[in-house]
Amino acid sequence: MTKYDFDLFVIGGGSGGVRAARVAAGHGASVAIAEEFRFGGTCVIRGCVPKKLLVYASRFADEFEDAAGFGWSVGETTFDWGRLVANKDREIARLEAIYRGNLEKAGVSIFDERAEVAGPHSVRLVKENRSVSARVILVATGASPYIDTRVLGCEHVITSNDAFHLGKLPRRMVIAGGGYIAVEFAGIFAGLGVETTLVHRGQKVLRGFDEDLRDALMAEYAKRGIKLVMSCTFLAIRREVNGIVGVLSDGTAVEADEIMFAIGRYPNSARLGLKQAGVALGETGAVKVDADGRTNVPGIYAIGDVTDRVNLTPVAIREGHAFADTVFGSKPWRVDYDNIPTAVFSTPEIGTVGLPEQDAIAAGYALDIYKSRFRPMKHTLSGRDERTTMKIVVDQATQKVLGVHMLGPDAGEIAQMAAIALSLGATKGDFDSTMALHPSAAEELVTMREKWAPQGMAAE
Ligand code: NDP
Repeated sequence: MTKYDFDLFVIGGGSGGVRAARVAAGHGASVAIAEEFRFGGTCVIRGCVPKKLLVYASRFADEFEDAAGFGWSVGETTFDWGRLVANKDREIARLEAIYRGNLEKAGVSIFDERAEVAGPHSVRLVKENRSVSARVILVATGASPYIDTRVLGCEHVITSNDAFHLGKLPRRMVIAGGGYIAVEFAGIFAGLGVETTLVHRGQKVLRGFDEDLRDALMAEYAKRGIKLVMSCTFLAIRREVNGIVGVLSDGTAVEADEIMFAIGRYPNSARLGLKQAGVALGETGAVKVDADGRTNVPGIYAIGDVTDRVNLTPVAIREGHAFADTVFGSKPWRVDYDNIPTAVFSTPEIGTVGLPEQDAIAAGYALDIYKSRFRPMKHTLSGRDERTTMKIVVDQATQKVLGVHMLGPDAGEIAQMAAIALSLGATKGDFDSTMALHPSAAEELVTMREKWAPQGMAAE
């Protein structure tokens, strides 16, 4: 008989923690999980899922406008933010209940309260003020929006957490940041008719993405009337009678009804008892782990955003699954971090997998580049001035496709399928020999034949 109350105690009921708990229980382990807020974590409660619902809402404005070219008269439209938020909340509650139900079905003991590490095999349940023991502790506490407290008046800003529950839709929104969250919310609010400004410290948004996508997205956002203020940060923020004023580093000021900071997230590792237990943390508070999610303290593991590696839901889920199979299922395996597809749900959206051109060059590859920029078929009738960008990055020596990058409708869906090809090691020849599906945007990926050459240089 085990000398511990549980074989596994998971702290954090997000996507990664829940997957680890369920899989470990399936392997016969006695498992407990604690969640201080709501099961489902960032992705379900205040991230991917509600965000995508807001993205859908924001895209109807385009549909109404585009309909005219197809013979429809839509008439006057109105938008009810309160109804959208209520419907979105109902769906989130439904998903949360499914998460909880799945844990119950798997026989996992659920604690609806904060839990902290009290020692290598001990967890303190804060509300009940008691400790339980576990052979293994898994920290899966995720991350939270970062607010730069050096900015005077930063208490006036909201974060993505608040954006999902605004009492009313602002007339003017200013968003700080140039990453996934800033770009996605700028698209959402602009689509909902909000006067939207994006203030970013860099020259271009979406650092790390292929340069062509960054340029194309900025061009499309500018066309949509999103004001892009680059190379600027906030110095101070103050509330005035008619709204909030942000003073920027270039000496100008922006006025808004809400200012949202989306300038990154920090790992939720503070006040968790980790330091006292001797668990090594990185500079930003990320829990340091090896390739199997092991911390430096035997028996304590961590997965997901709290480890600040690749902060994406499917990655956390896979890390949780690999941890449970390895530690409780005698089936050791590790997450493969190559060719992770990702989307930015801007409008138009970005879908990408593999190496951006600049990263492939930095890695020493000689490249063949294929690019295509075209008007999506729908807009031949709608008249919308929007261009799709597609790009394939190919290793010249082996002809292996290193990266596929797209900006345009359904780019996320297309990138997911392209990821299968890349993970199988497909070459440009494999893409070329794949039959096109006509008429589609994705067919462009299997019909691009002309190598791209910089202006003034002929393609070989
Ligand atoms: P990101 O890391 O993507 O972006 C942070 C942005 O804030 C960058 O533009 C960064 O600039 C800027 N920034 C950082 N610090 C400061 C500062 N002190 N002052 C001003 N600007 C600053 O973070 P997000 O918060 O947007 O998203 C967090 C993570 O969540 C992402 O990395 C992603 O993995 C995940 N996510 C994924 C989504 C998806 O899959 N669709 C959607 C939303 C989030 P710089 O580039 O110069 O560093």
